[in-house]
Amino acid sequence: MSNLLEQEIDQRFVQQLPADHLRVNTSRQVLEACYSFVEPKIPSNPKLLHVSHRFLEELKLEIGDESEFLKTVSGAIPFRNAEPYAMCYGGHQFGNWAGQLGDGRAINIAELNIGAQNWKFQLKGAGPTPYSRGSDGLAVLRSSIREYLCSEAMHHLGVPTTRALSLVTTGDAVPRDVLYNGNVQNEPGAIVCRVSPSFVRFGSFQIFSARGDHDNLKKFTDYVIREHFAEMGAPSKEMYLKFFAEVSRRTKEMIIHWQRVGFVHGVMNTDNMSILGLTIDYGPYGWLENYDPSWTPNTTDSQHRRYRFGNQASVALWNLTQLANALYPLIDEAPPLEKILDQFKEEYTVESLDMMRSKIGLELSANLDAELIDQLKELLEHTEVDMTLFFRKLRRFETPESFLDAIRASSYLKKEEFDKFSDSWVSWLNEYAERLAIEKRSKEERGKAMNLVNPKYVLRNYMAQLAIDAAEKEDDSVIDELYSLLTHPYDEQLEFEKWFALRPDWALNKVGCSMLSCSS
Ligand code: AMP
Ligand code: MG
Repeated sequence: MSNLLEQEIDQRFVQQLPADHLRVNTSRQVLEACYSFVEPKIPSNPKLLHVSHRFLEELKLEIGDESEFLKTVSGAIPFRNAEPYAMCYGGHQFGNWAGQLGDGRAINIAELNIGAQNWKFQLKGAGPTPYSRGSDGLAVLRSSIREYLCSEAMHHLGVPTTRALSLVTTGDAVPRDVLYNGNVQNEPGAIVCRVSPSFVRFGSFQIFSARGDHDNLKKFTDYVIREHFAEMGAPSKEMYLKFFAEVSRRTKEMIIHWQRVGFVHGVMNTDNMSILGLTIDYGPYGWLENYDPSWTPNTTDSQHRRYRFGNQASVALWNLTQLANALYPLIDEAPPLEKILDQFKEEYTVESLDMMRSKIGLELSANLDAELIDQLKELLEHTEVDMTLFFRKLRRFETPESFLDAIRASSYLKKEEFDKFSDSWVSWLNEYAERLAIEKRSKEERGKAMNLVNPKYVLRNYMAQLAIDAAEKEDDSVIDELYSLLTHPYDEQLEFEKWFALRPDWALNKVGCSMLSCSS
């Protein structure tokens, strides 16, 4: 096995795209450039908390000397002769154009060729950059643990995502006002080393378009197509449309996965939408417990709930529309772009129904499936049933009466409240039984297939918080346990059965469990 730190450096983003000509590290507008060279802040006392060994195994690499590795992924020393840089991008935040955003607290330390892939290695929380807009460029331990565990958990759930290689604490205190109520506290600083073939976002295109810089818009789009969509051939108007169609397709797939596993991103701003259709920027995300399409974990969005579970596909489409607007100067024709957006809507409707069919074990499609599934969603919502528990248990369904107990045991309602819906549940289960009767697969085969789409374990909001509470007391054991649990989310793992349970009552209104802000 070879050493990660010895892999071939190939700064493809840097070499092919224009750099900021200024080298000063002050917050400012950066024009006609895709990135700025910037050095990470030297941490005062870095410690390695966790390394994603599974990811390293996938790359067929090892970390080599641990102290050298720690220095590299904490920003204490540079990655050999690779010059670190922060990327320029803009974005719509909560529906409003916010202008230049950029890597305010992320610094790319190296682009490495590993196997056939060029991977970008990025430190999140390594100090200010020209894009920090006056903020510190740092990240706290709680948000870093959340990003670290969730990116790896998502990967093992089969959801496209950026990866996390390592989690370190910096030894530096970071002041934060968690609830934005004037109560500033010092928190431990931390850095996640994130890894992805690309960290380009919708906002990376928008910034050039918004500034009327069509030369750089073209240069940048051509680079992205050449590097990441090479199978499409040389850039041309036709290729730009193909490219947009492919981004739209990947975004749709990602959202269907989110809906399948009950993931709510929480901040689907256009600067947090990856051009590769990867889940990116884990902030105030959360997992659906009681099935509630109107739920969002993000308290900053609690009024309008723009980024609620049930709205993620619509927001993705809205974001794609902004990307289409940004690409328009290269295409100069609206109808073909509109056609691709319409296609997103049509395909999403069909494919999300297929996804829901797979969750309830239907292989064939029948006329009334959409109604059956809508009724199920309503019942789950009204009876506050835990999404993960319900779908995972459903494969054991035998008779309506016996399965009703399993549903009751997965509900957050009091028994008396739940029982008001018993008849509705029994009637739904009867219809479900009739529908199952036309399926060809045996119960056993069906159960096996259901276990591949219905995870047993997800990173419930309170689980991440338990890992954080322990780590803040210098106990990394919960991070270890959850990391290991979540690398096999579809396996039974009976030794971890305690995590296959309803959210405990104490977690209902606890900060970090159900209420999260953007403060990180
Ligand atoms: P987010 O919604 O967390 O992805 O962040 C939106 C923008 O704010 C991005 O440009 C981030 O780089 C920037 N940002 C967030 N937190 C900080 C921070 N502590 N220091 C500097 N920039 C930040
Ligand atoms: Mg972001």
